[in-house]
Amino acid sequence: MTEESIFPVRKDIAAAEPYGAPHPDVPVRLNVNENPYPPPPEVVESILARVGAAAQGANRYPDRDFLELRSALGDYLLREAAVPNVTADMIWAANGSNEVMLHLMQAFGGPGRRVCSFEPSYSMYPEYARNTFTTWCPGKREADFSLDAGRAIAHIDRTEPTIVLLASPNNPTGASLALPTIEAIAKHVERQAIVVVDEAYAEFRRPGTASAVQLLDKFRHVVVTRTMSKAFAFAGVRLGYLAADPELVGYLRTVRLPYHLSAITQATALAALDHAGLMLAQVTDLRERRDRLAAALTTMGFETAESDANFVLFGRFEDRDAAWNKLLAKGVIVRQVGPPGWLRVSVGTEAETLAFLRALAQIREELQ
Ligand SMILES: *Cc1c(COP(=O)(O)O)cnc(C)c1O
Repeated sequence: MTEESIFPVRKDIAAAEPYGAPHPDVPVRLNVNENPYPPPPEVVESILARVGAAAQGANRYPDRDFLELRSALGDYLLREAAVPNVTADMIWAANGSNEVMLHLMQAFGGPGRRVCSFEPSYSMYPEYARNTFTTWCPGKREADFSLDAGRAIAHIDRTEPTIVLLASPNNPTGASLALPTIEAIAKHVERQAIVVVDEAYAEFRRPGTASAVQLLDKFRHVVVTRTMSKAFAFAGVRLGYLAADPELVGYLRTVRLPYHLSAITQATALAALDHAGLMLAQVTDLRERRDRLAAALTTMGFETAESDANFVLFGRFEDRDAAWNKLLAKGVIVRQVGPPGWLRVSVGTEAETLAFLRALAQIREELQ
């Protein structure tokens, strides 16, 4: 914050603000893309049982290769993405996909190396780069927030990264990338870069949209990251994971901190995976509500971006900060992200969504 600090802090750290959305305590919280439904009581009971057993062995370090959890995640992923084969040695996990991403940057980025992505996208990416001394080289998405493979490849040729980061569905804009686009980029960077496809919102994708998990068979340098924070309604537990080539996963084992995934986290995630169907029970409803929310916004005269996620980017406001503040005054919090003039709203319960639409209709009159 200040050059006057008595501490020998890095200049780029001193100048930065810690990441995080404001989270005032308001009735309708639609700002961080959480699933609004808590885990059902049966799942909570299973968690208590598994955690109880883990607690009895808590004097020992946890299983540092967590093979039981990796195998359960692999089983889940192969069902979800409808692929024939995802084995435990292809899975890696950590405390949120944020930490998984950090491991990737530690192993494949670093001083003198570059990571590129295409903006607008997830605002954490440049922070992973900064924290690992990797140079951040953002390219641009098209005006409709899609990605043109030819232009993306030209950007990659100019910047020569070792990591290409593609969010699909993208946050904060919402749409998935077409698989042929990812394939074209993957083909181009073989033996030069890894291609990380961040599928944090994959379970919300529209029917008929393929997951990049399907590319793992074809390309050894494609990595797909996922999380239990969003569709899986488990943001509080901090469990993210990825699927990739077993050799690549081996390099992540080298950079992780010893025993980074606690026995309690492993037990909790295993209990939730035992009940994957229950944990994901609301996803169909949330997806349908997202589509109705986008339609309602369009009817009100707003522009919306296509979404395969549990949020909708909408605009445009002459002064989005004013709109954001007026919504907040009515007890509704959304997020100021994305290009100027746009706001992002998460899909909540039916009641929350209606409260948001009502507040928005009111503030629109006030803004005119
Ligand atoms: C929410 C989100 C994540 C997930 O972060 P966790 O650390 O797993 O909670 C990753 N990528 C994107 C684009 C996200 O929006």
